Amino acid sequence: MGKQKKKNTNVKESKKSNSHIWLFVIIGILTVGLVVYMLTGNFNKKNTEETAITYENQPYLGDENAPVNIIEFGDYKCPICKNFNESFFPLIDEELIQTGKVKFFFLNYPFIHVDSERSALFGETVYKELGNDTFWKFHKLLYEKQPDDQSLERKDIFTEKFLNDTLSEVTTDENVKKVNGNFKKDASENAVETDEALVKDLGVTGTPTLFVNGKKFEGNSFGDLQKMVEEAAKESK
Ligand code: CA
Repeated sequence: MGKQKKKNTNVKESKKSNSHIWLFVIIGILTVGLVVYMLTGNFNKKNTEETAITYENQPYLGDENAPVNIIEFGDYKCPICKNFNESFFPLIDEELIQTGKVKFFFLNYPFIHVDSERSALFGETVYKELGNDTFWKFHKLLYEKQPDDQSLERKDIFTEKFLNDTLSEVTTDENVKKVNGNFKKDASENAVETDEALVKDLGVTGTPTLFVNGKKFEGNSFGDLQKMVEEAAKESK
């Protein structure tokens, strides 16, 4: 009897150690799976490779074949964007765009006020109906016309009439009518939504935010941006 009992205990022990082996096997499989998942890049997919960005149907400045893409995410109602466009952008234009080093895109991140949404949609309509050149003239003028008084940031300034009047400063009355007709029909709503989807995917949280070949610019000076552009140009060769 005693022997028999001992035998039973051995069976139990052997079952116990078998279940330990299976536990190790399962943990092993899960670990290998996790490592493969991380190595194949799925784990870091949110960390924005350039492939995640579609530049098609977005307004841009510069040489079509420039090796580096810069995106500015902006809001026409944002005072820092106005400042950026008037003091920082001319340097980018002169040193990076005009020299053929960079293709510069503007994308909408309208979040401050109803004016932000309205002017983003209007801008997209200008781009769709009148093309790249007129879009950039309108874009520049709209930032110039943003009031310096920042207390107006959350007031209705960019009304439909204001946007039409601004556009009429850079194109014909006939073109203004064409844009306004399509603006009223929300014909370019999808374009704004495309920009906003990218804002979400790239984790943009404020304006202006720049991306250089899909990587967020974290520097402070034009020199920092220039350095980042040079590195991106080397990588793209
Ligand atoms: Ca756009």
